[in-house]
Amino acid sequence: MFLSKLFIPITKDLPSEAKIKSHQLMLRTGMIRQSSAGIYSWLPLGFKIMKKIEQIVREEQNNIGAQEMLMPTIQSADIWKESGRYDDYGEEMLRIKDRQGREMLYGPTNEELITEIFRSSVKSYKSLPQMLYHIQWKFRDEVRPRFGVMRCREFFMKDAYSFDIDEASAKKSYNKMFFAYLKTFKRLGLEAIPMAADTGPIGGDLSHEFVILAETGESKIYADKKIFKIELDKFKFNDDSLANMRKELTSFYAVTDEKFNKSEFDKAVNKSDQIITKGIEVGHIFYFGDKYSKPLNCLVDSQEGKKNSVKMGSYGIGVSRLVGAIIEAKYNKDIMKWPKSVSPFDVVIIPSISKNNTENLTKANKIYQELKKQNIDVLLDDVDENMSAKFKKHDLIGVPYQIIIGSKSKGDQFEFKEVNGETQTLSLKEIKEKIKN
Ligand code: ATP
Ligand code: MG
Repeated sequence: MFLSKLFIPITKDLPSEAKIKSHQLMLRTGMIRQSSAGIYSWLPLGFKIMKKIEQIVREEQNNIGAQEMLMPTIQSADIWKESGRYDDYGEEMLRIKDRQGREMLYGPTNEELITEIFRSSVKSYKSLPQMLYHIQWKFRDEVRPRFGVMRCREFFMKDAYSFDIDEASAKKSYNKMFFAYLKTFKRLGLEAIPMAADTGPIGGDLSHEFVILAETGESKIYADKKIFKIELDKFKFNDDSLANMRKELTSFYAVTDEKFNKSEFDKAVNKSDQIITKGIEVGHIFYFGDKYSKPLNCLVDSQEGKKNSVKMGSYGIGVSRLVGAIIEAKYNKDIMKWPKSVSPFDVVIIPSISKNNTENLTKANKIYQELKKQNIDVLLDDVDENMSAKFKKHDLIGVPYQIIIGSKSKGDQFEFKEVNGETQTLSLKEIKEKIKN
């Protein structure tokens, strides 16, 4: 892509309403634009990054056998009345009437709808277990939408639902999701801590929040650093190994301030391994048995011929929140540092251009074509601007590698820089290898 043709409305001013770095940087780089409180448009740069995150989330769901589908954003109030949550959910639910006066709502989550779909189509234990998911916009009329995409009213979420014949089998599904979450966050370059959580309005008796460490998080975290030393690859994808994985990972001390107790913390964790910081919740998983299947009458025949309520779990990841959460976890001063897996481009070429010297631009163009041929997603900064302005801009955008075409790039040796890192002189072949690894 040529920068001159892209719609990336970068602004110099620091938006006053933005209190945290991710919100500031996302507005400044034109990733998002607020349309009303807690509701944003995603402009090309922000949208591209969110789509990359979404794709990683999707791949890891598919890897554990979850199947993608798509449910609507607008739901009928009827099923929510059946489950009993229509009144319980309160003002966070956006309620709508259609022209016939029917009560509808903009879905804040989908337990009811998926249960309704399931009960009408699955009748026997033979069709279980099942895991279904979708990635769809949600609406929650939060009292205080804030921090940009971190706490919005309209946000993009992956929500998955598992269906099993009994609790033992449901816990196996839970462990698979637990595993998929750890893999997902790892691929996003994040260190996520699973923390035993209260189940809140979703209900049920087993629940974990996945929290990443960032100074600007909403909750205070006390944890044992050793949790990050565990190699996920040592666990195999079978029920016993995954059960061990959850056991091992949840054996480390990790709590939010509500459950914090200093003497317990000091006893459980060496001073040098203690992490005390803030955290951002990026995912939340629940096992809640028949909390929805029972009121909604979602029954299947067991092997013994009895009618059983299906045992269910639900599993959310905040896809749009993750865009901000990654910035919060990685930024340095005014530099966004995208992990390679979600960076908007693999590399940017920055030629020094002036009216009477187009040689650098020609050179840059040649490299651009070469890299494109290798399927490298490359951005060429063809804007006629001085180099210091260009560097500032690219620090902001945070593409991890830069090829600088100026006086230091001679012949087939090029100045190559990692964002906020060392500058090297490399051949195009070496550059390609670096980017591809
Ligand atoms: P929180 O505790 O942050 O209010 P929650 O427990 O209500 O979230 P869940 O229903 O578990 O959220 O939703 C799953 C995920 O969706 C959360 O882990 C979070 O990453 C994301 N999410 C929830 N609410 C919002 C929101 N208002 N804006 C952006 N993302 C959100
Ligand atoms: Mg939660």
